[in-house]
Amino acid sequence: MALSSCPKCGNHTFEMAEAEPKNWRFKIMFVQCKSCGTVVGSMDYFNLSTLIHELEEKVDTVMHKLEDLEYEITHKK
Ligand SMILES: [Zn+2]
Repeated sequence: MALSSCPKCGNHTFEMAEAEPKNWRFKIMFVQCKSCGTVVGSMDYFNLSTLIHELEEKVDTVMHKLEDLEYEITHKK
């Protein structure tokens, strides 16, 4: 696999940096060259797959509670 390199200085290591661009109300993450800071990419501040996984767990909890309630209602006499 080819080694990723900075288009400005040729460095091969990168880092994530928090950014708050003007005229934008959300934080974002820059992927930047660790040596000269040239931005080579950007990502959402929050990791979407982590958020989706957390939501999935919450939905599962709610589903179980609903099933319990349904059981109680249908078996209550
Ligand atoms: Zn660089």
